Amino acid sequence: MSNAPHETGLRALNPATNEAFGPSFPEPDAAAIEAACAAAWAALDTYRETDLETRAAFLEAIAAEIEALGDELVQTAMAESGLPQARLTGERGRTTSQLRLFAQVVRRGDWLGARIDPALPERAPLPRADLRQRFIPLGPVVVFGASNFPLAFSTAGGDTAAALAAGCPVIVKGHPAHPNTGALVGGAIARAVKAAGLPDGVFSLLTGASHELGGALVRDPRVKAVGFTGSRAGGMALVRIAAERPEPIPVFAEMSSVNPVVLMPAALAARAEALGTTFVGSLTLGAGQFCTNPGLVFALEGPDLQRFETAAVAALNAAAPHVMLTPGIFGAYEQGVDRLAGREGVTLLARGCVGDGVNQAVGALFAVDAETFQRDAVLSHEVFGSSSVIVRVKDATQLAAVLEGLEGQLTATVQMDPADVEAVRPLLSILERKAGRILANGWPTGVEVSHAMVHGGPFPATSDPRGTSVGSRAIERFLRPVCYQDIPDALLPPALKEANPLSVKRAIDGVL
Ligand code: NAP
Repeated sequence: MSNAPHETGLRALNPATNEAFGPSFPEPDAAAIEAACAAAWAALDTYRETDLETRAAFLEAIAAEIEALGDELVQTAMAESGLPQARLTGERGRTTSQLRLFAQVVRRGDWLGARIDPALPERAPLPRADLRQRFIPLGPVVVFGASNFPLAFSTAGGDTAAALAAGCPVIVKGHPAHPNTGALVGGAIARAVKAAGLPDGVFSLLTGASHELGGALVRDPRVKAVGFTGSRAGGMALVRIAAERPEPIPVFAEMSSVNPVVLMPAALAARAEALGTTFVGSLTLGAGQFCTNPGLVFALEGPDLQRFETAAVAALNAAAPHVMLTPGIFGAYEQGVDRLAGREGVTLLARGCVGDGVNQAVGALFAVDAETFQRDAVLSHEVFGSSSVIVRVKDATQLAAVLEGLEGQLTATVQMDPADVEAVRPLLSILERKAGRILANGWPTGVEVSHAMVHGGPFPATSDPRGTSVGSRAIERFLRPVCYQDIPDALLPPALKEANPLSVKRAIDGVL
């Protein structure tokens, strides 16, 4: 009755019924971990030098293999995650289009970052050597699949696609909440590896439900980077393990964000009711199980904020309950809501409709004044699910101060009208320091996979604010620059050879 490890291994659990189903997945032992790490290491030198077309076609072949799984994939993911068919069908499209986008980037070759500073033998007082730079992959990457995106952020999700695009072999630590979905997708990737004639170690999937498995993978000296999406506790545990290795490695963990939303006065005056309703739509989408869920709302107190609250309460009271991904996530949500309800100075404004099934999240909306919010750090901690806190602020100075006090975020949203522009200007410079993505007049849920997207941000949104885990820039996290000084042309990699056989863009003396 649980998707925890036991004698016969891990089994999937249907969160809508609490019933275990499907085959048993034995916990990978030390030999399985050794085999995956050894195979990834053995594959590295071959895979990292695949030509651009082979690697791009390989990513596209993974997408085609995932599509060829047909309905079985969506049905399996539905049974394991409780997510509805339309959402998972969309997520499958996002997974395959992400792979195809990265294939285009690989083909173009800009990611190689080729730079050439030609030799200056006559330069006085000292001549300059011939200097050429390109990016190479870091090495084997361990990816921890996310529970809340069983397709787009799991086995063949963003981190896997980015690492493979960079030329890194990948070992996925499959999420225990969707072992059968993971196995189907893992099989699709393995078929694409074989069809491309690549070494088997380019991709491995180890599914288990013990912290030991993940820890052992991160400790292995052949692993050179980690991609993770999940809890702050889990991400930080992996950061610590990686930092304590004899050779520390980077961990790109996307962990926790409450995604503040600021309602500016003119916008609130003009459309308080519409904002209240659309806010609840974003809050309750997918049972609130998004890292971009709007968990904090800031606005000046007064009649317009009251109109917003009244509309939000009405919308939340009518919001249907949704089954959550796992009993554990449901339990953590309930605890988080109870914790908020018990804090001094916090008012419960509304709950959603109560269902009669198991693991069903009921939305929760709270309100608090800004002084209390500033005093109590617990109020700004992520409650994963459809829970949000409205912070009633006295004036613009206090608004700037509460925003300044926030931790790092994936997103920050401002609802604004033209009359709010000048008041937003000083806030923008605060929000830039806090968040990876700043939105005007939208809601933070819904993350486009594109070139300009940033799904990252300062700690604790991520463990490393210098990158993004969504969009083509995600590839850069798994690369490092190497400089070749006076290396003969015959030995240079194709991207740096004098004749530029790949026809990639190169910066010569800093000019593209
Ligand atoms: P999680 O508990 O952080 O687990 C994610 C992955 O990391 C799993 O594969 C887990 O495997 C592994 N892991 C966790 N702690 C570990 C440790 N100490 N050492 C080694 N491996 C570890 O996340 P979850 O199960 O998906 O959801 C639990 C909570 O995470 C949610 O309630 C929510 O608060 C948060 N969450 C946040 C996001 C986000 O986008 N920010 C997304 C999903 C979940 P094992 O359990 O097998 O060790």
